[in-house]
Amino acid sequence: MKKKQNYSRKREAILNAICSTTSHPTAEWVYQKLKPEYPDLSLGTVYRNISQFKNDGTIMSVGTVNGQERFDGNTKPHTHFVCSCCGSVLDIPGKYIEDGVSEKVSGKYNIRVETYEVMFHGICSKCLQRQESL
Ligand SMILES: [Zn+2]
Ligand SMILES: [Zn+2]
Repeated sequence: MKKKQNYSRKREAILNAICSTTSHPTAEWVYQKLKPEYPDLSLGTVYRNISQFKNDGTIMSVGTVNGQERFDGNTKPHTHFVCSCCGSVLDIPGKYIEDGVSEKVSGKYNIRVETYEVMFHGICSKCLQRQESL
């Protein structure tokens, strides 16, 4: 029984860590953040819980940036911007594809589009400032 409690406490801490930041963290980041408080936490546990949360729809995967999958506690529809300079993932509110695009593409190519996503890539304002001051 005690073991189970401990397990769900970790589970909650992992979810909180992801939801308490807008930095779209990696599993590794979550692990490093919780490690001081949960010394027996393993990276495997973090991965396992994250993939469960993802399946449940509690969190979202943003996709892979610089080889590491990034996660988002904000599951409301929004768009992402990825800085190719520092790898930060920023939230851009709003939708940038007009309605009916799935149907259009589905009809045109005789496929069934179920989801799609828009991802902006470029250089974030911090990196732009840094470049200008060089
Ligand atoms: Zn940047
Ligand atoms: Zn986001």
